[in-house]
Amino acid sequence: MVEIKSDDALDAMREAGRVVARILDAVRRAATVGVRLTDLDEVARAVLREAGASSPFLGYRPPFAPTPFPASICVSVNDAIVHGIPDGYRLRDGDVVGVDCGAKLDGWTADAAVTFIVGTPRPGDVELIDTTRRALEAGIAAATVGNRIGDISAAIGAIAEEAGYGMPRDFGGHGIGRHMHEDPSVPNHGRPGRGYPLRHGLALAIEPMFIAGGKNGYRVAGDGWTLHSPDGSRAAHMEHTIAVTEDGPRVLTVP
Ligand code: MG
Ligand code: MG
Repeated sequence: MVEIKSDDALDAMREAGRVVARILDAVRRAATVGVRLTDLDEVARAVLREAGASSPFLGYRPPFAPTPFPASICVSVNDAIVHGIPDGYRLRDGDVVGVDCGAKLDGWTADAAVTFIVGTPRPGDVELIDTTRRALEAGIAAATVGNRIGDISAAIGAIAEEAGYGMPRDFGGHGIGRHMHEDPSVPNHGRPGRGYPLRHGLALAIEPMFIAGGKNGYRVAGDGWTLHSPDGSRAAHMEHTIAVTEDGPRVLTVP
């Protein structure tokens, strides 16, 4: 069931979104060569504590997961696409690092992700990240009253196709509000003009995830959570929580 949010609810989600933006900024600044992924999780926890917010990731157990998620952020490095569990790995020069996080504040949730490079970029990595960001922007631009979910999906999918990138097609964006994952789902590929109609007050997490090697699919790691690219090539993930409004898409997860 899709819940349409009141303007007050969207304002509350905006406050949760500010916390998410602060976490992503702090984690990104902390992510230098030699830093452990668990250190980045500590940075996120500190921002959440300071904001009086909680993590919708910590302890979360969706149907596909074998165990509750043990951290406050996902950190997905290089060929990891999404859902990486922060561990003792130390960042290296040239790593492609995807950080995904959420915050719950006063009962309302926001969810966003960013991918960046630590140190010196390798050939192709900047383009992969920039193209994924461009797909996120195109998806957001399509999130207007009168459009449908398929218009968002098609806008994202067209950019992947044009660039020759693959996707883990079973995973994509989602409705969001009191809970991190709500209806409707927002696939990263689809047909324009199809799917749920976009109305004022619909809150969505839009999140393209692109695989440099061009194959669609993924491989699940032994931890049961981390999705790796099927061919070992690098991947990028970008996400914002937005609201569809009469005045156009409103991005909630910015500072
Ligand atoms: Mg997310
Ligand atoms: Mg999400």
